[in-house]
Parts: sequence; C-alpha cells; structure tokens
Amino acid sequence: MTEPLAIELRGISKAFGPVQANRDISIQVKRGSIHGIIGENGAGKSTLMSILYGFYRADSGEILIGGKPTEIPDSQAAIDAGIGMVFQHFKLVENFTVLENVVLGAEDGALLRPSLAKARRLLRQLADDYEMDVDPDAVIEDLGVGQQQRVEILKALYREADILILDEPTGVLTPAEADHLFRILNGLRDEGKTIILITHKLREIMEITDTVSVMRRGEMTATVRTADTSPEELAELMVGRKVLLRVDKKPATPGDVVLEVENLRVVDDRRVERLRGIDLTIRAGEILGVAGVSGNGQSELLEVLGGYAKGTGTIRVNGQPIDLTGRTSDARSRRARGIAHVPEDRQREGLIMDYRAWENVGFGYHDDPKFGAGFLMDNAALRRDCEGKMERFDVRPPDPNLAAKNFSGGNQQKIVLAREIERNPDLLLIGQPTRGVDIGAIEFIHQQIVALRDQGKAILLVSVELDEILALSDRIAVMFDGRIMGERLPSETDQGELGLMMAGMAGSGVAA
Ligand code: ADP
Ligand code: MG
Repeated sequence: MTEPLAIELRGISKAFGPVQANRDISIQVKRGSIHGIIGENGAGKSTLMSILYGFYRADSGEILIGGKPTEIPDSQAAIDAGIGMVFQHFKLVENFTVLENVVLGAEDGALLRPSLAKARRLLRQLADDYEMDVDPDAVIEDLGVGQQQRVEILKALYREADILILDEPTGVLTPAEADHLFRILNGLRDEGKTIILITHKLREIMEITDTVSVMRRGEMTATVRTADTSPEELAELMVGRKVLLRVDKKPATPGDVVLEVENLRVVDDRRVERLRGIDLTIRAGEILGVAGVSGNGQSELLEVLGGYAKGTGTIRVNGQPIDLTGRTSDARSRRARGIAHVPEDRQREGLIMDYRAWENVGFGYHDDPKFGAGFLMDNAALRRDCEGKMERFDVRPPDPNLAAKNFSGGNQQKIVLAREIERNPDLLLIGQPTRGVDIGAIEFIHQQIVALRDQGKAILLVSVELDEILALSDRIAVMFDGRIMGERLPSETDQGELGLMMAGMAGSGVAA
C-alpha cells in the first residue's frame, strides 16, 4: 500500500514577466511528515508556497490535496483545504490581543463571543501539549518575535489546518527560540499534521525534516530522505557545484595588539545607554567574533569604532588613541587610521543603491593620488580599478557601470568587501558579512576574511549567525544588553553555552 499524500504538486510553472520563478515543479509530501524545501535566495521557494496558499495562480500545473485535485484561487480556498501558513513577516494586528488575533477573520458577529471562549480553550490545550505558552490576553505589540510566531501557528491551528507551511521561520529567532519552534513542529508532526518548512539553512533541514526537496533557479533538482543525504550533498544540489561548508583555517598566529578598547560607552538619541563599558583587545592576525542577539549593542560597537557614532572611553589603534567626540571622530578619520568597515546594513550604509558599482567602489578613496584628487577624479582609472576588484572578488555580472541596486545581495556584499579589504586596513570591522547571501558566496566571503587575517590584519566580526562566529573566530565575545558577557575560545565552547550567554544567563570569564 502506498502511503497517503497530504499534498501533491504536478508540473507547476509560474513566470513573472521574463523571470521563470517556478518551472515544471512536481513534489509529493507525505501526510504526517516534516518536508523541507531548501534553495538559495531567488530559487523560487516562496513563489511555490504562495501558489499553494492561493496568493498566486500557477501558469500551469495541478494541485492535489489528500489525493483530490483542488483549485486554490485564493487563501480562503487554501484554508478550506486545511492549509495554514506562517508568514515570514507576521500579519498580526499589533494592538489586538492574542485571542482576538487568533479568532480574527475566522469568525465575527454573534459568533465572536463563543469563539473567544473556544479559542481560549484551544490555546490552553496547545500550551499544555506543545509548551506553547502565550498569554491569551497579551497585546501583540508587547510580545517578542518568538511568541508572535507562536500566535501565527495558533491562528492556523484554530482554523483546523492539517498542513502547516512555514517560510523561513527561524530568521528572526534566537537559537533557543528556534529550538523551541522545532519542538512544537515535532509535536505537531507526531499528532499527524503535515509540515512544510522552507529554509536556506542546511543545519535546520538536517535537524528536523524527514524529507527534503532542493530548488535551484526555479527548478526542483531533487527530493531525498533526510537520513540518506548530507549537508555537503544538499549544498551541491542547491548551488550546482561542490561547496566547502567548513572554513579551511589554520590556527591564528597573533602579533602585536592592534585594537584596544577600554570602558567604551555609547548613549543613543533617547539617552539610553547602548554600550555600558566595553573592554576588548584584538591583535594582528586574529579574528575576534562578537556573538549576540541583534539589538544588544553590537551595532553601536561597530558604529562607534567606524566613526559613525560618538562615545566615551578609550579606543587605541596601534597604540595611538582615537578621537571619540571631537572633529575627527568621523569615518574618514578612521579610514586614515587604518580602519576599514563593512557595515551591517549594506543597503543603507555600505552602498548608494542608485549609484553605479564603480562610483560605490570609489567611496573613501578620494584622497588617493592614484585616482587624482578631490573634484578632479580620474573616472576612467576608477572604472578600471573597479573592474579589477570585481574580477578578484568574483562579482557577477562584472559590470562597473551597473547600479548597485541591480546586483543580488551576495554580489552587493562582495562589492563592499572588495572596497574595504583592498584598502589594506590594519583593522577590519565587519558586520553580518553573509546576511542574505547565498552559500556559494558565503564560502567565498569566509575565505576572504580568513585570508585577510592570515595577512596579519586584526578583524572584528559581528554576526548573529552562531555557525559563522564559531567557524571564523579565533576568540568569541558574547554581547548582552550593552555589555560583554564573557569571552570563549571556539574549541572550548558550543552553541548551547553561547546561546545561554546571548540570553544573559551565563558567562563572565575571559578566554586565555
Ligand atoms: P525564494 O523564496 O526561493 O527566495 P522567490 O520565490 O521569492 O524565491 O523568487 C523567485 C524568483 O521570482 C526571483 O527571481 C524573484 O525575484 C522573482 N519574483 C518573486 N516574486 C515576484 C513578483 N511578485 N514579481 C516579480 N518577480 C518576482
Ligand atoms: Mg523566499
């Protein structure tokens, strides 16, 4: 006997103008399983799920739910067919309570009051079954993202969804919250629900799915049992070539101290103290990784070091103090002191999106005699220089005249990296180097960072990706609430301990 299928898609195609987002996609999802869909940015995952949820109509192809051909012209039809979706950007009403949001749209009028009572019971039961503790009367805007996501799940379950689709659900979660989500999903699967989990993270696929389908450039390249595959094989299927998942890196050979930070404090516009006395040291030839949930002062640390924010305390570079409050406390003066900066938010701070690549690559090189000076810059030389950088950093397409906004996220990041790394800095500040970047480009970016370290540069790496911190850092500092909770050597810690420190629950102590 064949196992029952929750969903079957046959030959689904969908184009947006010239872009073929989905091409002849067929997939079978077994009832009571967790089915992963993995693929790089733009592979077509969200489009496929949007078709299943009735947001888009496929140009061709067929959808079968529980073995029955089903038309899904809108999301009400999807809900009627037992499909629930947890969105990447939550669609909850901020100033309504949890209960109101759960019931909203499902019932109204005379049914509202009994519905609220029913929702409250369901909520309690789910809380017991899956440790999905959410206060029914809490207002959404007072909840953290992890809890808001649970409300989205509750909302789908309240509508009696048998099939739950989650599109990149862990992007906004801490490691502990992601673990919690996975426990909930496991519980739901054991209950007989079918889960489709979309992600670009290999670790999540390996950890929680039963089956995985890989998408590449609009096509489904393979569907395999998770137990029969490996991260390496999946990466190759995603990218179309072999990818080095582990960074190849020799032990560091640290030299002289390059950066010394003592009692660094930053107060923001609303007079909230964002950095509450940071002390750290980085030597030449060493990567200090700063881990933390975003919003705990890492951004302010990068900004004050990079000259974009003022602060108090002491910063020394190569033994010489840096101006933290005066006229020379700006980015330009920092560059003159040998500091390069790859900002966290490259779309806002790293690039001017409407400017061409060569113009973006020229930022901060205005004092370089190679390109003429000031207003009389040699644009042809800048273009040639950009071409060289694009080739060395494998930017695609290698066209200096293209505006920054026309490159993919990974290629934008390579443009910023090329500009900053080739400044030949003593200290590189780098924030979220691979946010929104595909695994093929991640491999390249990680290699560049390690190569820079091996040339004897000091590197301050800030990332919310613990995998990245663990893979690249020679020492790890964990930030929480504007302070450093402690330092660890990568060989002497793990995700669990770092996760606790990130939540402010453990720590102190300095790595040798
Ligand atoms: P993924 O979720 O795997 O990152 P998407 O399904 O979002 O990929 O996108 C697949 C392709 O379709 C991309 O090239 C994207 O730019 C394009 N695309 C997606 N939605 C639209 C849309 N509404 N209009 C035009 N192009 C779109
Ligand atoms: Mg997507």
